Amino acid sequence: MKKICIIGGGISGLSIALKNHIAGNKVSIFESSKRLGGVVQSVRKNGFLMDYGPNTLNIRTKKTKGLLKECSAWEDCIDANPQANKRMIIRKKKIVDLPHSAGSFLNSPFLSLKGKLRLLLEPFIGRSKSPESESVAAFIKRRFGIEVLNYGANPFLAGIYAAKPGSLNLSQAFPKIYELEKKYRSILLGLKKSKKQADNPNLPKTRLVSFSNGMQELATKLGSRLTDNIFLECSVKKVTKRSNKWLVTTSNKNLELTVHEFDQVISTVPSHKIKSIEWENIEDKKQLDILSSSTHHPLALVFLGYKRKDVTHPLDGFGFLVPEVENMKILGTLFSSTLFPNRAPEDQVLLTTFVGGERDPELAKQTNDQILSTAKKELANLLGITGEPTLQEIKKWPKAIPLPDNKMILSKKAAEQISSQNPGLSFSGSYLSGVSLPNCLDPF
Ligand SMILES: Cc1cc2nc3c(=O)[nH]c(=O)nc-3n(C[C@H](O)[C@H](O)[C@H](O)COP(=O)(O)OP(=O)(O)OC[C@H]3O[C@@H](n4cnc5c(N)ncnc54)[C@H](O)[C@@H]3O)c2cc1C
Repeated sequence: MKKICIIGGGISGLSIALKNHIAGNKVSIFESSKRLGGVVQSVRKNGFLMDYGPNTLNIRTKKTKGLLKECSAWEDCIDANPQANKRMIIRKKKIVDLPHSAGSFLNSPFLSLKGKLRLLLEPFIGRSKSPESESVAAFIKRRFGIEVLNYGANPFLAGIYAAKPGSLNLSQAFPKIYELEKKYRSILLGLKKSKKQADNPNLPKTRLVSFSNGMQELATKLGSRLTDNIFLECSVKKVTKRSNKWLVTTSNKNLELTVHEFDQVISTVPSHKIKSIEWENIEDKKQLDILSSSTHHPLALVFLGYKRKDVTHPLDGFGFLVPEVENMKILGTLFSSTLFPNRAPEDQVLLTTFVGGERDPELAKQTNDQILSTAKKELANLLGITGEPTLQEIKKWPKAIPLPDNKMILSKKAAEQISSQNPGLSFSGSYLSGVSLPNCLDPF
């Protein structure tokens, strides 16, 4: 049995802790804040339930299902309303539905006739000449055409990473699509062929879920499965290599310092927090500079509640995303009270709007009043809102989501290098595993 220290009680730290606990090791988690979950945070106010971090968990693989079963979260998952299959974007300042079948694709105003014909040429396009460094923007434009880039990839990536497609590296952001081109050349043909393979690790049916108390419940369930030591309000200040052991110095809420000894240390703190820890006697310390330099942009989430009768739009879908070429301020809006039950009091609705990101980082730094006024104005036009909000809340993330860009490739190499030079020390977290919750739940 090894004594293992996990630094950080976010989803990455909790899932690594659970796997090591199951393997029979003695695990201790040190978390600097008062609660587990990290960016996963659900807050109730005036009958509304807001998720300040992730809103949805996409369960695609047998592995993710296995981990959820392990912490008894699988049974309590709440499936998204089937209406969530309907996704929307803004085109010519109006909300339009994204196609969900071949038939609806032909009739959809999502792309012009020219754009649709260009997309259908995809099976005839050759492979990239420099695939490893290709950006998502270059890949989409080359394979599917400029309209799919502007009205498909651009808003979609603003929704996932709050980033622009030109900044993201395809192999890091969408490794499966990168592999599809390598293996089959065409993505459309490759998708068709790979679905048929018998050893497919995917579930027959993808589930888009949350929990009755919001996504925070996932962290709580992971934590409650860990019977070992969880130390909250306990920051790791120093990690020292001492022969074949690791000394970890922590500071509790009374600023009392304690030194603990471990066989192994796994850091899951975000990239931008790595330098807040002193790393002593570490070989090849310069790798920490690379690990701590992931790209993040600021993001603000605006939660607005309205009386149902004051919103003209039926809100009959997941929400909408805004392509950059539409020149609007907001990045997109989730119809949160359509997605999951009990997110708003009866006869009211909850909308979650994203602003800032790489497209407009300054906007996310404005005062709450400025951000609210921008979001309310744009939503009023798009959704036909007449009344005043019954709830208005803002959550700002100064460093929201680590981007899967070229730096991510360097960070992964640095993490491997530092682990090989310092046996017993390793790094994980969304800046290395990928940001989606399934990636954080299965980080290695
Ligand atoms: C606004 C937003 C929306 C998102 N939406 C989705 C979504 O809908 N679906 C999805 O799949 N993913 C989504 N994501 C991504 C996903 O939520 C994150 O990638 C994931 O939760 C990150 O988990 P983590 O454990 O790696 O990091 P974190 O959650 O950042 O956890 C790191 C932990 O380390 C702690 N820590 C830091 N320094 C120290 C220290 N010195 N000592 C002890 N503890 C320390 C921090 O307090 C924190 O709790 C979203 C992310 C954001 C920000």
